[in-house]
Amino acid sequence: MRRSGIREIMELASSMTDVIHLEVGDPDLPTPAPIVEAAHRAALDGYTRYTPNAGLPSLRAAIAGRLRDRHGLETSPEAVVVTPGAVCALATSVLAIVDPGEEVLVPDPGWPNYRSMVQLAGGRPVPYPLRAETGYLPDPAGLERLLTPRTKLLVVNTPANPTGALFPEEVVRQLVGWAREHDLYVLSDEVYEDFVFRGVHVPARRFDPDGRVVTVSGFSKTYAMTGWRLGYAVAPPEVAAVVSRLQEPLVSCAAAPTQKAAEAALCLPDQVVDGMRERYRGRVELAAGVLEPAGLLPVRPAGALYAFVDLRHLGDDSYRLARELLERERVATAPGESFGAEGRGRLRLSLTADEAALLEGCRRIVRFAGTD
Ligand code: PLP
Repeated sequence: MRRSGIREIMELASSMTDVIHLEVGDPDLPTPAPIVEAAHRAALDGYTRYTPNAGLPSLRAAIAGRLRDRHGLETSPEAVVVTPGAVCALATSVLAIVDPGEEVLVPDPGWPNYRSMVQLAGGRPVPYPLRAETGYLPDPAGLERLLTPRTKLLVVNTPANPTGALFPEEVVRQLVGWAREHDLYVLSDEVYEDFVFRGVHVPARRFDPDGRVVTVSGFSKTYAMTGWRLGYAVAPPEVAAVVSRLQEPLVSCAAAPTQKAAEAALCLPDQVVDGMRERYRGRVELAAGVLEPAGLLPVRPAGALYAFVDLRHLGDDSYRLARELLERERVATAPGESFGAEGRGRLRLSLTADEAALLEGCRRIVRFAGTD
């Protein structure tokens, strides 16, 4: 497994002063107070012990209820496995589905952890390209060329990290249909589902009549709860059973007070998340207002928390670009290649800094790019 290029920049940045930090996708907004209070109360009430591997029955039922209300997807609580962060749901799903030597189609650019999870399972990650020319959407014909008899799983991420692309309904339908045609599982990472600025999020499970889609989502991004560690998988019964069993040797279960906090999060009025979404929407517009006129943002993000900046005119080596930008302009960003080869010559900005810092960071990037 390769070391994350993002960590490298973080370490370099930590030895400097006056740095604008746009490298990590960690919401800067606070966890809403009712969630914090619910965790406190839960701990005082004795939620301080192990829970079942798959999570508290009350939370699994609440998540199933949310999926029914929001997306009209009938979900039994048994299909829901609560995990410490979406990352654990993704990793255990990969372990449950992929045998050593099997191949997994992963987005490029895409979240680097997909590749390392597949490697951990002894599988082989096979990147499929998402190109700016097609709005960072997958090309079904391109996927077909990567298919082999060993292909087992297709990983999909919408809204996407690092590009901010939102897959339209037709694309999601096609991808799941294509997976069914070739008897593949689909792992659909929807952790940014609540941060959509244009269009609508379409869950992959909507097109899954025969139980091949595993959906992963969580609380980290939606409720600004990255440090609390809570996510979940919604899976076909045979996969849900293995994902739940895999928690036993790895983590036992998610933390009990965190699970109670998540129940409180699901009871919050919609305005709480709407407020956060509006804040991020404003930041997308702010960043786009500076980067687009300079020709540095080929596709405006429709969702998630990132802007994927194109600096290819300065060279392909995004690690060098990120280091030079940091050294010359004191702006820390994530090198595009840490998300795959398609990230060459690009940098990912996280829209998780306050507006003034983000604006100044974007202005410095334009100065660095020499296109102003
Ligand atoms: N999936 C994607 C695409 C992410 O970007 C991240 C975190 O950055 C995660 C999953 C992990 O989320 P969690 O904090 O719930 O483990």
